[in-house]
Amino acid sequence: MRAVASPGLEVSDARQVLQRVFGYDSFRGSQQEIVDHVIGGGDALVLMPTGGGKSLCYQIPSLVRPGVGVVVSPLIALMQDQVDALNELGVRAGFLNSTQNYEQRRQTEAAFASGELDLLYLAPERLRLDSTLDLLGRGEVSVFAIDEAHCVAQWGHDFRPDYLALSVLHERWPEVPRIALTATATQATRREIATRLELTGARHFVSDFDRPNIQYRIAPKNDPRKQLLQLLRTEHAGDAGIVYRLSRAEVERTAEFLVANGIDALPYHAGLDKEVRAAHQSRFLREDGLVMVATIAFGMGIDKPDVRFVAHLDLPKSVEGYYQETGRAGRDGQPSTAWMAYGLQDVVQQRKLIELSEGDDAHRRTLSRHLDAMLALCETVECRRTQLLAYFGQDSAMACQNCDTCLAPPESWDGTVAAQKLLSTVVRLDRERNQKFGAGQIIDILRGKKTPKVEQFRHDSLSVFGVGADLSDNEWRGVIRQLLAQRLLSVEGDYGTLVLTESSGEVLRREDPRQVLLRTEPKRAAAPTAKSKTAKQAAQDMPPEAEPVFQRLRAWRAATAREENKAPFIIF
Ligand code: ADP
Ligand code: MG
Ligand code: ZN
Repeated sequence: MRAVASPGLEVSDARQVLQRVFGYDSFRGSQQEIVDHVIGGGDALVLMPTGGGKSLCYQIPSLVRPGVGVVVSPLIALMQDQVDALNELGVRAGFLNSTQNYEQRRQTEAAFASGELDLLYLAPERLRLDSTLDLLGRGEVSVFAIDEAHCVAQWGHDFRPDYLALSVLHERWPEVPRIALTATATQATRREIATRLELTGARHFVSDFDRPNIQYRIAPKNDPRKQLLQLLRTEHAGDAGIVYRLSRAEVERTAEFLVANGIDALPYHAGLDKEVRAAHQSRFLREDGLVMVATIAFGMGIDKPDVRFVAHLDLPKSVEGYYQETGRAGRDGQPSTAWMAYGLQDVVQQRKLIELSEGDDAHRRTLSRHLDAMLALCETVECRRTQLLAYFGQDSAMACQNCDTCLAPPESWDGTVAAQKLLSTVVRLDRERNQKFGAGQIIDILRGKKTPKVEQFRHDSLSVFGVGADLSDNEWRGVIRQLLAQRLLSVEGDYGTLVLTESSGEVLRREDPRQVLLRTEPKRAAAPTAKSKTAKQAAQDMPPEAEPVFQRLRAWRAATAREENKAPFIIF
């Protein structure tokens, strides 16, 4: 049955569809306004946080307007589930993507052409095919929905070249309203979406981006896996959560570590077999209390309401990524944690990745800007939420009292002198000895440690040798990290050697009237006293059902070990 529509239905029908078809009492936030606007034939750009309820914004207009709603989505893996859920509600939905065989596609196409569908989900690459465009031409389209519209933004990690071709929709069907939806909302991305999709006349609907039930915390990183374990044991025992890591190898290692410590964890990254990925994803969605350790390949479109924590063990590349990823926590509105471990090596590593990234200088500058904003969030002494929302153009009058800096305000100190000592050590080594070193070596020299390397190069004869004995190793790492974050210092080369930047000179010559205000490093968390378990001990503690996971991990690790050894940068 066709759920509702016959030609001539009105806006007031939207509410009936909401209640009768979807079984909800009322619209949320700006859903009603958006739905009315699109039913009336207007274009819309919808910026709504993850879990905000974007789907209804195109599903209801698709049902109310005559014709079929065509939904472009990159989430091929979720299409079957979405369509099944709609079918259960009595909505006639179908999809076309590369997972289908010829016969399945042909059936869906026939259903579309004969007007037996309410909604058709399409993978973006389908729209590059003339056959798909011809098909759409044979039926009646009620609305074009472009979900996850930030995929059109070229700098982002979700960029899909096929999205660039979506402007063809407007050229061919100028009278059909279009609605683009995303949870990524900076002004720059918004402009890019509007331009690239030729949505110039679209009305923008920007929701409140605050997720008050999420507690944001960024902790200094020393032993991230152990810190994570501590967090899980003390605050999130038995909870479902997502742990993000930068590399596939770290995903594997971290998952293995958690399993060995009695936590139900699964790995997920693009290097695993399709079937393994699908199996892990569906276990995470269906079972209680699983921890998914993943690269950013995991999560887009995942609608699991009770994710209690999202942990980042490596620094995300951008605030937008961080916001999207942490936004997967607490979709049910219950208290949840967004926790991140962040340290010097993250800054070095991300700067390095940018230096090595493909693309031109303009692209690298864009990546740098995104990283700078992320670092500013990490280093802030003010409310994290205020800063996060400000990034998305949203003012918040008060500190939130639900982030680490509000709950335990960090102290700061004038690090100008420390910065000068450090920078002049870097300069002297370069000018007087023609040598460049990484952070570890520089700290040894500053603190006057007579290591073999120091003796070998007779650095104890340097005038700066030992000038920094007043600060601890950890404090110096903090100084370096924060100078890197503020671009008063830079890294280069395969060994992450420290070099000056254009702004370093201002600090050295005291021309910069700003003090170098540095966040006080917390006293280093007491190192766990008991020696950490050997792999063998850990394996003995492992629950038997974990063994198959381990076997796959080991096989995968063996296969990738050689690649890993070629990692181009060294972390201190
Ligand atoms: P988004 O795409 O913005 O991340 P979804 O469209 O997947 O969010 O919706 C998130 C969840 O909120 C879904 O479980 C959905 O059923 C629910 N939801 C959306 N709108 C409403 C509403 N008006 N009333 C109740 N639940 C809603
Ligand atoms: Mg969605
Ligand atoms: Zn706060």
